[in-house]
Amino acid sequence: MTAAVLDKSARVQIEDPLNIYIEQDNAKTDAQLAASRARKANGQPASAIDGWTVAVKDNYCTADYRTTAASKILENFQPTYESTVTARLRAAGGIVNGKVNMDEFAMGSSTETSHFGPTLNPVAKTLGLSDRVPGGSSGGSAAAVAAGMADVALGSDTGGSIRQPAAFCGVVGFKPSYGLCSRWGMIAFASSLDQAGAFGKSVGDVAKVMQVISGHDPQDSTSWSGDYPSFDMTNLPKGVKIGVAKEVMDAARNEHTDAIWAQIEGLRSSIGAEIVEVGLPTIKYALPSYYVLALSEASSNLARYDGVRYGFRAENPTGDLNSMYQLTRSQGFGAEVKRRIMSGTFSLSTGYYDAYYLQAARVRRMICQEFADAYKQVDLIAMPTTPTPAFEIGVERADPTEMYLEDVFTVPVNLAGLPAISIPAAKAVDGMPLGMQLIGPRLGDDLVLTAAAAVEATLV
Ligand code: GLN
Repeated sequence: MTAAVLDKSARVQIEDPLNIYIEQDNAKTDAQLAASRARKANGQPASAIDGWTVAVKDNYCTADYRTTAASKILENFQPTYESTVTARLRAAGGIVNGKVNMDEFAMGSSTETSHFGPTLNPVAKTLGLSDRVPGGSSGGSAAAVAAGMADVALGSDTGGSIRQPAAFCGVVGFKPSYGLCSRWGMIAFASSLDQAGAFGKSVGDVAKVMQVISGHDPQDSTSWSGDYPSFDMTNLPKGVKIGVAKEVMDAARNEHTDAIWAQIEGLRSSIGAEIVEVGLPTIKYALPSYYVLALSEASSNLARYDGVRYGFRAENPTGDLNSMYQLTRSQGFGAEVKRRIMSGTFSLSTGYYDAYYLQAARVRRMICQEFADAYKQVDLIAMPTTPTPAFEIGVERADPTEMYLEDVFTVPVNLAGLPAISIPAAKAVDGMPLGMQLIGPRLGDDLVLTAAAAVEATLV
């Protein structure tokens, strides 16, 4: 750990006009590249992804880069160890070419809550449109791949944070079944929902990354200990049954979602799918249920940032311990994170626990059951990834919960722990990309990827 790494001025801004990277060090990238070239010259590449550059979301602990979660409270936090997922990537020859921007503590849908300022959407820039958000919270990861600054990227998905930015930036984003990628060393937001996953330009690239980063890890008690999907793509069976839910179709209906529904309908002829209507009646309560559960878990997870153990500590003129906690947390967390901690603390408090947390947990159970019932009839479920394409940056919202509506199609998947992918499938009138989401049954990751690759092949 050098002084330069700890210095905020070391944030590399060179040739990063979209503010994608929080920290990047070309010397480190070059050293990894040289090692990869040497392995390949000896005819011994470490894996299929040896030499690929990987943009890593800044909520994965990395021993050679600070890990900030895009928060002031962790601005100078240098982890002493590496996350399992990034360690696996490096062992496979993946080249971490820097840490990328995100919403603070992965809380948001636009990367605007970052302490380091927003990331701009590369597609909007290329099209010469007004500045748009890249989505969030893994906005930097999606933007890095879309802008060609990395071959692939790592993100995390608690309520859509991989799929939504993938849709907004016109790349592929995959969230595996809960438990397939270790959460060890990934900064926690809502532990029962958080899952690592990957971004790439194609489904095939994403699948190759998944082969490397998935696998049992004894360090994570929620790590899956049964058989793992192979993440190989096989031939898609003719007549694959794809479910569509009327309740979902009616939610947030507009010209953008209609364009994706039309593409889904087109899967009958393009991949020979059978489209079957399924019922997901409780899905309309997924969003409120998610925002109660995720925020409750966050309020507990973020209690550890107290100015003692990690990162930032505020000046504390009185010397009193409680005032140190208070000042550190008031100054260290941004507005959205504070709002969520307060809301989560409220739903867990005596007298409100039954009405909010417990009720939300019951809704979650029902949603899981409805998905399980639907998969008795169909192989996969399809829906849009988002209700709209990337929105303009800096839009003042009268009500902060307005942005939460952005997650209407993504959060049910996290509540049920299912695998899901977003692939670019249509364009809005202004040319901005729109994503189609394919959702599989638990541990049906291989079918999700196989189907997505088949759909991708018909769209290119
Ligand atoms: N946008 C969602 C939220 O703000 C999802 C975040 C995530 O998946 N990390 O909570």
